[in-house]
Amino acid sequence: MHSVAPVGYLRSCFREKFAIPRQPQLAPAARGVLELLPPFNTGEAVAGLEQVSHVWLLFLFHQALEDKPRLKVRPPRLGGNQSIGVFASRSTHRPNGIGQSVVRLDKVEAARLWLSGIDLLDGTPVLDIKPYVPYADCVADAHNGIAEAAPATIAVDWQPAALEQARLHALRLNEPLVELIEQCLAQDPRPAYQVPASSRRYGCRLWDLDVRWHYPQPERICVLEVLLAE
Ligand code: SAM
Repeated sequence: MHSVAPVGYLRSCFREKFAIPRQPQLAPAARGVLELLPPFNTGEAVAGLEQVSHVWLLFLFHQALEDKPRLKVRPPRLGGNQSIGVFASRSTHRPNGIGQSVVRLDKVEAARLWLSGIDLLDGTPVLDIKPYVPYADCVADAHNGIAEAAPATIAVDWQPAALEQARLHALRLNEPLVELIEQCLAQDPRPAYQVPASSRRYGCRLWDLDVRWHYPQPERICVLEVLLAE
């Protein structure tokens, strides 16, 4: 069988799986750079792509690869306690570990694609890039009874000091960090079955930062601090 090899690797704001949105487009401020590998990094392979607003990325779930294929999965959307067929889900546990995401293409360089609205981990190997073709890829009467609409969001508040920290790091990184944190946490990253005590602290890594929050109420997040990761 013909083997596949990455055309590049993604440098992403997401340095761990926790708090990555479940699909692309849910956090428009989630940005990354796809670094193309030889022979795709001379400009030839991306010629024309500057006329395209979005691309499909086909990639490897490199941190979820498994030897034994699963036939059933338990999607978080169904509360993690109902199983459906792997081919009825967008779970990361797949026979060949292949993911696909439509992401915004912000800038094209010979060896780099600047992307946003991503749902991919830092270091993800990208197997192929294809232009989004609206007339073919957007199906007006499509429906999906398992995932009919985007997941509900929850409110995100800030401790004033945490907001100030985020604003300063945003300037340093030149990234829309406040928006990124709000968009990711509004997706409510905690596992569906967990009703957190307000004293319980949660955290995730975005860029080079540790973001910490708690739930003062079950459906409300308060960001506590945004600090350089050690
Ligand atoms: N849009 C893609 C798809 O439908 O194939 C991915 C959907 S999957 C449900 C999204 C989750 O994959 C993210 O929340 C993150 O936890 C996980 N993820 C992203 N990149 C990954 C990687 N390289 N390896 C393992 N898991 C990854």
